Amino acid sequence: MRLIIAILLTLSVAHSKEIALTFDDAPGDTTLHFKPEQRTDELIRKLKGLKVPPVIIFANPCNGNGPKSNFAQLTKFKNAGHIIGNHTCTHPRFDDVGPDQFVADTVNAENIIGSLMGETKYFRYPFFNEGKIVAARDQFRAWLS
Ligand SMILES: [Zn+2]
Repeated sequence: MRLIIAILLTLSVAHSKEIALTFDDAPGDTTLHFKPEQRTDELIRKLKGLKVPPVIIFANPCNGNGPKSNFAQLTKFKNAGHIIGNHTCTHPRFDDVGPDQFVADTVNAENIIGSLMGETKYFRYPFFNEGKIVAARDQFRAWLS
């Protein structure tokens, strides 16, 4: 499961010496090792056991077992004290779909997980692809802000 592999550490030594631990593509699909629900429970258990402070779970609520199952799993993360971020609904590559479809996909995700997101909303581009065409990139950035 990419969730485990896609652990992303962001180290900002120059400013505040903080580390943000984030997980992308949650809750994800069934893999050789886990069903999505098992992975969610195991990840929450391990983070708690290691006394890891809240992490950001960047979710794709339309993927995996679908919105209903994903919402239930993301609710478990939220109830365990973690932060839910928007990673679009279906994880499209910005340059493949363009700003209008990318906005629609992001709104679809927000419609499913918006109630789980905090007052400060977090978003991460799938594939870290913000777009090669400046006008398209700026269009989405303007909408996002
Ligand atoms: Zn991703």
